[in-house]
Amino acid sequence: MFKKILIANRGEIAVRIIRACRELGVRSVAVYSTADRESLHAQIADEAVCIGPPATKDSYLNMNAVIQAAVNCGAEAIHPGFGFLSENAEFARLCEKSGIVFIGPSYTSIEMLGDKAAAKETMAAAGVPVIPGSKGAVRSIDEAKKIAEECGYPVLVKASAGGGGRGIRRVDKAEELEAQITAAQQEAKNFFGDDTVYIEKFLVNPHHVEIQIMADKKGNVIYLGERDCSMQRRNQKILEECPSPIVSPELRKRMGKAAVTAARECGYYNAGTIEFLVDENRDFYFMEMNTRIQVEHPITEEVTGFDLVKAQIEVACGLPLRVKQSDVKLTGHAIECRINAENPAQNFRPSPGTIRALYVPGGPGIRIDGAVYQGYTITPYYDSMISKLIAHGADRDEAIRKMRWALSEFIVDGVDTNIDFQLEIIKQPEFLSGNYDNGFLTRYMEAKK
Ligand code: ADP
Ligand code: ADP
Ligand code: MG
Repeated sequence: MFKKILIANRGEIAVRIIRACRELGVRSVAVYSTADRESLHAQIADEAVCIGPPATKDSYLNMNAVIQAAVNCGAEAIHPGFGFLSENAEFARLCEKSGIVFIGPSYTSIEMLGDKAAAKETMAAAGVPVIPGSKGAVRSIDEAKKIAEECGYPVLVKASAGGGGRGIRRVDKAEELEAQITAAQQEAKNFFGDDTVYIEKFLVNPHHVEIQIMADKKGNVIYLGERDCSMQRRNQKILEECPSPIVSPELRKRMGKAAVTAARECGYYNAGTIEFLVDENRDFYFMEMNTRIQVEHPITEEVTGFDLVKAQIEVACGLPLRVKQSDVKLTGHAIECRINAENPAQNFRPSPGTIRALYVPGGPGIRIDGAVYQGYTITPYYDSMISKLIAHGADRDEAIRKMRWALSEFIVDGVDTNIDFQLEIIKQPEFLSGNYDNGFLTRYMEAKK
């Protein structure tokens, strides 16, 4: 096992990784920006190194500063968490060049799968069903028109380098296509530094179902059930559940096999998630693969009893997976609510400020992965997610009941949060039915206006 790991992230995921290090007997090193001196991750790690000013490009995205910190403190490995440098192939390559283990897949896997248009091609070639659309990137407007015609409108123009729900545009008719492609290219260039776009048929109200996989460096690949992430606002997840209420054991097996095939196809190792869209006929289509730990990983951990973050570290160290596919059993049902410092009544505007009072729920089946404490000041520089509330029950109904009381006990005073909004959503009949699709939340908010 490693002796020391540097965590190139902040917030709750950095705290989560530090805890995994503790359990494995590994020393943890936090990095922090000058805005994050008082952050929980910088406080609780065994060592902490300031890597720069608040702006992410100067600190958490500053590859040289992060690697220099790791070299200086003698860390053998870097865990990138999610967001920031986690899906940056160049960073993974730099780690290797500096003799530091990147806790994640190889940089060639990241490169191959980070290009979403090319990844779809790879998957299609491996026999995994993909969403109809362009074969790889679109090169000209004429080609785009032809493909859109073939798929039938509406279509989506998506940034090949996109992520976090950004860089996706819907086109309803042929006349709008050219303007939307130009705008999408511009946006993709600004956001992701790459103007490559591809076209995909817009599936009407599908379900977002993703498969968690874990693979070691010895060729073992397993899948750990699925997560339903259909509760989305602007293509961003806000509540997730495991297992998916719309997935049968038979469908789970087929999707799991497709996910394992996809991972094998790219010689993948470490944790990864294959995202699929599932339509009303319960046919599924590959959408993209996320080559990192996912925000919503705790619900999989609760239902499988498998610690994904510890496994990431073990696998990176060269150890084999502790479990085989036949050992993976799903027990009960888990739901996660993302708790954000934001104001739902003001178009979810982030709400930085000082937390004056904090009461977090506990009790049977409740887990909090958080990064805030009483007196902590949330700065405006980073993501507004401050905590994740996870409820695990014997079945879906019990998990929902637990989530209800936990949300109603949760008190964060001093900043606005989406806690009441989450409570409202989980009371909706469509959510309770389990058969809600990706369009549910948008329809619900429209109806409320
Ligand atoms: P998950 O599938 O794990 O829920 P998200 O799409 O919510 O992933 O992204 C996880 C985090 O990473 C979020 O904070 C999101 O803003 C950030 N993120 C993901 N991809 C990108 C990207 N390409 N550029 C910037 N931030 C990103
Ligand atoms: P990101 O890289 O930002 O996570 P994804 O390609 O995973 O982008 O898409 C994010 C979300 O956008 C999906 O979960 C889904 O709700 C919606 N979406 C993406 N592609 C399609 C599609 N072809 N049809 C309908 N909805 C889509
Ligand atoms: Mg996605």
